[in-house]
Amino acid sequence: MTPGPTRAPVGAAHAATGPARAPARLAARPRAGFAVVLLAALLVALIVFMLAVVAGCATGGQPASAVSVPATQRESSTPAASAPPSAVSSPSAVSSPSATDLQSAAPSPSPIARPPFAASVATLGAARRAAMIRSGSWTPRCPVALDELRLVTLTYWGFDHHAHTGRLIANADATTALVTALRRLYDARFPIRRMVPVDAYGASDERAMEADDTSVFNGRFVAGTTSWSQHAYGRAIDIDPLENPEIKDGKVFPTTARRYVDRTLGLPGMIVAHDAVVRAFATAGWGWGGAWHSLRDYQHFSATGT
Ligand SMILES: [Zn+2]
Repeated sequence: MTPGPTRAPVGAAHAATGPARAPARLAARPRAGFAVVLLAALLVALIVFMLAVVAGCATGGQPASAVSVPATQRESSTPAASAPPSAVSSPSAVSSPSATDLQSAAPSPSPIARPPFAASVATLGAARRAAMIRSGSWTPRCPVALDELRLVTLTYWGFDHHAHTGRLIANADATTALVTALRRLYDARFPIRRMVPVDAYGASDERAMEADDTSVFNGRFVAGTTSWSQHAYGRAIDIDPLENPEIKDGKVFPTTARRYVDRTLGLPGMIVAHDAVVRAFATAGWGWGGAWHSLRDYQHFSATGT
């Protein structure tokens, strides 16, 4: 509606000034009468035009609805701007338990919408147990029974700036701390490469690390010892092990992670003191291997701090 009326007076003004100046160069006598007639004709034309525009706006429902459509689209494309979740497009509103997740997505410079964080905890199914026994990640000698372990399925933020669904096997008594901390990582958009149980790598810690896999449970000893690792209890997590290697006696694990020995690089996925990752796990009561002195295990957080 706005462009019509504004354009009309501009055109009328041009029409009025043009002919008004032209007769000034003609003979003086017919000038006044001619100008009056011309002005009167223009005025009548203008009034008729304005009446037509007003009538069009009042009777036609189409322009009004045409304006409201883009307004609705803008609201739905920026969910945080609309307070009531019902106004948000249905896909994101259906499983949205908290409005804070939507709000925290708002300042993002990325055009990609971020789904809300979700996590679920389940007992291990028969197929999962069979896969763990087959790979050797769990054996009857392990310090925890399969019944004490849980499958945690949760959202994580990827290096590709997309949300993904990951799976962790963890001790039942560690799931609350893990979900609490990993929700904070998601909120902070800390990137995680992948998150699948170590069975995908034949329960090989080295292979899982080289694949940059984030994992919790692995029924193994501390490397080079016969002591059970906290991973064998399902109470320790290794995060982005390639970007966060373990450095012991000058050796780097995984061996492909030499690039990340310099902890000042500040590359995506690197965990450094006091950052969002360390703070998230500290809040959950878990200690960081990057703070150890005998060796540095930048990928490792555990409930016991060991
Ligand atoms: Zn570890």
